[in-house]
Amino acid sequence: YGDKADVKTVAKHKLPVIQCIDEKGRMNKNAGKYAGLTIEEAKKAIIEDLKKEGLLEKIENIKQEVGVCWRCHTPIEILDREQWFMKTRILTDRVEKEALEITWYPDYMKYRLIDWAKSLDWDWVISRQRVFATPIPIWYCKNCGETILAEPEWLPIDPRVEKPKIDKCPKCGSTEFEPERDVLDTWMDSSITCAVHAGWPDRKDWKRLFPADLHASGIDIIRTWAYYLMVRHLALFDEKPYKSCLINGMVLGTDGRMMHKSLGNYVASSEVFSKYGADATRQWAAGGGATGSDIPFRWPDVEFGWRFLIKLWNAARFVSHQLKDYKPDEEEYALQPLDRWILSKAEKLTEKVTEALENCQFNIAMDEIRNFAWHVLCDCYIEAVKDRLYKPEVYGEEKKRAAQYTLYTVLYRILQLLAPIAPHITEEIYQTMYAEEKGYESIHLSPWPAVNEKLMDEEAEKSGDLIMAVITEVRREKAEKRMPLNTQIKKLTIYAGEKDLAESIERGREDITGTCKALKIEIVASTGEGREVKPYGNVRFVAEY
Ligand SMILES: [Zn+2]
Ligand SMILES: [Zn+2]
Repeated sequence: YGDKADVKTVAKHKLPVIQCIDEKGRMNKNAGKYAGLTIEEAKKAIIEDLKKEGLLEKIENIKQEVGVCWRCHTPIEILDREQWFMKTRILTDRVEKEALEITWYPDYMKYRLIDWAKSLDWDWVISRQRVFATPIPIWYCKNCGETILAEPEWLPIDPRVEKPKIDKCPKCGSTEFEPERDVLDTWMDSSITCAVHAGWPDRKDWKRLFPADLHASGIDIIRTWAYYLMVRHLALFDEKPYKSCLINGMVLGTDGRMMHKSLGNYVASSEVFSKYGADATRQWAAGGGATGSDIPFRWPDVEFGWRFLIKLWNAARFVSHQLKDYKPDEEEYALQPLDRWILSKAEKLTEKVTEALENCQFNIAMDEIRNFAWHVLCDCYIEAVKDRLYKPEVYGEEKKRAAQYTLYTVLYRILQLLAPIAPHITEEIYQTMYAEEKGYESIHLSPWPAVNEKLMDEEAEKSGDLIMAVITEVRREKAEKRMPLNTQIKKLTIYAGEKDLAESIERGREDITGTCKALKIEIVASTGEGREVKPYGNVRFVAEY
């Protein structure tokens, strides 16, 4: 045979097959005088013989496609062998029906499975000629050739080691048996994982976890794992193996090509882990791209994840320090506008992250959490409440406790949402700061946070956004003028442009005063001169130093 097309043609026209190569790649007796030579040697010998006989017309190089071993690139020769098959193609309609009912992440992956099932032109070959794999529990009667299949109670059994547990051949009475020496395709084992994970065949109640809620897999094994799971479970249990299927893309090398040792674009995970830790690496994997797409490995992404963890760690240290005299035991807190602002945003974050994770959109969840923790909590809120935390004699104990409560609550929420992506650092912070109070043995054993709609407050968010924008713009001006951020402002005049915005800013007067170190603040409802507060076109301020 040259290739698979030859095999099909021979089968179609029922042509006789003369096998002249053995399993060691040598010519056998059918090759006549060439018997015993390797394929390469035989080719040379035949050319010599043709030359000698004067039958050789010409020698030239031609291009042809040759199937090769994926590992060592040795050309493949097709040999005729009897094989065991599973009759899979009779299930194709059913596979399509189930595939359409299953939820796929991303959705279009279902067609990869359906198209594959429909394109198959032979059944699944389940036997392999290998030394090591799961044995095929079958014997043949030496006398009449009858096939003897092991009873379920005999399993596990290796026919090459043990005899069948019967006295004689049921057909001819012979007591001599020949074991099946072929072994099973490795996918025969992998194709029952959904049932096995659920407890089959040992647990009676295995159906409570079957079909699996989610089968997580890769784009390269839809044709094998996703497909074989499907046909096998349909055949055994008349039921689909999984309710939803997550198909991940491939990790590409740093140059965007398939990772390969020979291309030199190969990065060992152990190298990444030892340099930046698993939590940073997991952030790259979660945030690297839309689910299902291939993602190149990028050191800068891992490093960014690592820097985020440092930021989070430092924020947790700060919060922990500020909570030394705090017990989360009060019913009501004197929540200030910025407290309500971030508590509301934390609820919205919870809603978005939960939805993203439910839909296996890990990159969206990752971006939302990081953006919130880094910018909303660290850059904005923590900076804006420092004065309140440091000077209870000015603002009052009540307002300090409100800030403490808010920090305690918001950081815990971030840890909960981040726990699936960065399991180690979240657990470490949880154990240090929260375990005693919350009572869960691990953050990974705590319930997923439910969204509290009562804490969602559009008004608080709107005015909080404005207050934060004013604070940020004042700090930006100081930075541009190369002044230390704690430089005192003698008088800060804020032009709100309209009454509503002036009222919003008024609610943040204390936070603005404290954070901007302003001795005096004047909030004016009309429009005026000064530096623009982005993105509020009509809000401007003048700071007199
Ligand atoms: Zn090979
Ligand atoms: Zn027999």
